[in-house]
Amino acid sequence: MAYDFDLYVIGAGSGGVRAARFSAGFGAKVAVAESRYLGGTCVNVGCVPKKLLVYGAHFAEDFEQASGFGWTLDEAQFDWSTLIANKDREINRLNGIYRNLLVNSGVTLHEGHAKIVDPHTVEINGERHTAKNILIATGGWPQIPEIPGHEHAISSNQAFFLKELPKRVLVVGGGYIAVEFAGIFHGLGAQTTLLYRGEMFLRGFDGSVRKHLQEELTKRGMDLQFNADIERIDKQADGSLKVTLKDGRQLEADCVFYATGRRPMLDNLGLENTAVKLDNKGFVDVDELYQTAEPSILALGDVIGRVQLTPVALAEGMAIARRLFKPEQYRPVDYKMIPTAVFSLPNIGTVGLTEEEARDAGHEVQIFESRFRPMKLTLTECQERTLMKLVVDAKTDKVLGCHMVGPDAGEIVQGLAIALKAGATKRHFDETIGVHPTAAEEFVTMRTPVAG
Ligand code: FAD
Ligand code: NDP
Repeated sequence: MAYDFDLYVIGAGSGGVRAARFSAGFGAKVAVAESRYLGGTCVNVGCVPKKLLVYGAHFAEDFEQASGFGWTLDEAQFDWSTLIANKDREINRLNGIYRNLLVNSGVTLHEGHAKIVDPHTVEINGERHTAKNILIATGGWPQIPEIPGHEHAISSNQAFFLKELPKRVLVVGGGYIAVEFAGIFHGLGAQTTLLYRGEMFLRGFDGSVRKHLQEELTKRGMDLQFNADIERIDKQADGSLKVTLKDGRQLEADCVFYATGRRPMLDNLGLENTAVKLDNKGFVDVDELYQTAEPSILALGDVIGRVQLTPVALAEGMAIARRLFKPEQYRPVDYKMIPTAVFSLPNIGTVGLTEEEARDAGHEVQIFESRFRPMKLTLTECQERTLMKLVVDAKTDKVLGCHMVGPDAGEIVQGLAIALKAGATKRHFDETIGVHPTAAEEFVTMRTPVAG
């Protein structure tokens, strides 16, 4: 049967755009549907605007530290609406770039909500289009628990468009988004409390990293409350929010921001018209080739719930394009050694196994740790310390994991990720000459393992 398209991609986010552009480049006839914003979550309400706000928040400490270097400044003033307007302008520019990327690569763009009506047909704006393959690349959506008063809370989607910076913010959650936004609000001058339901935030990160970040945030005056969970939120007559915790305590805030994970975006997608199955967490179930239970339908990115990171969605999009239309170049995505950063203030950068994971996997480990005051701070009052940590297999000398909390941790860990991917040993690290004077050189000068 002749189809209108070889591939119909639903969702012009990180993964969908990558799969569509490269498939078209390999000669396929491709369409992509987008219901909200070109570039998806990352460009519009994720990585990019978040990083711009993190940069904005960082100036607070730059101004503070400048006096140690002889600068005098009048009292620094911050204007939220300028930051948001400039951020919006930049995101608009990126939307245009995404549009050009798609159109110039020969992809047909359909703007509207797409619904699958049968395994080879998508309906959008009242029109039906057939395709040999359909790719679900619809991403995720913030998930707020339905406690009484949850309608008074916001998620990251709204945080990027607040009319003004709230004076008092309660951030709920202990993952990437909670920690990053707590840093943004705190850095920009809001009185910020982070509430996490467990003993220690950032579950899954290395224990030393979690503790170090906790200490650094506390030093900076952020109010961290662990073992704390909200029971209800009540709006008061003056518009502020009264938050009652499960232990009975009450807190007041002007904004309650939930960052408690993301669900797959499957709203009105028409999966009931297909044999596509969901996994036990509700994400689209796919095999190692991103194939769903419906032979003509594939899925990638956040909607499959594997690793919710943009570079992973990009890699999956590339793998799908190659497998379908350039099989001789197909290479599976390698999910090991994915480097990642949390853009908290200070940043976390990490790649490979945590100490806990290495021990659980049966490795006999040697741990190298260094904590120091960055050189840039020596002329200032700031007492921030950087943490660097290597997890090494004592038997093979292989470096299993690198972890850092400190300025530019994400930038530093990207290079280390290549070394780990190439199988670097501790000896390779030791034999590498440092770049002096940098913080990063500490990763190649740690000589003595931590006892015990
Ligand atoms: P998305 O980028 O979410 O794209 C899905 C697209 O599908 C959307 O544009 C949506 O509108 C569209 N869509 C949905 N349903 C339909 C439909 N029925 N019809 C038509 N279109 C539809 N990752 C990092 O690597 N680094 C970071 O620093 C980072 N920061 C983040 C910060 C925040 C606040 C958030 C929320 C996420 C962040 N992420 C970050 C994660 C990253 O944004 C996602 O992993 C990535 O965007 C997933 O890409 P995707 O292609 O799967 O989906
Ligand atoms: P995460 O899954 O990272 O964290 C969710 C947090 O919310 C956890 O601390 C979790 O606690 C807590 N939580 C979950 N449910 C509840 C509940 N009902 N009540 C109270 N707390 C709850 O999700 P995020 O929303 O922070 O981010 C989504 C994903 O987006 C990330 O996992 C990451 O993949 C990606 N992202 C990446 C970024 C980056 O690369 N820098 C930045 C931002 C997002 P517990 O640990 O106890 O389960």
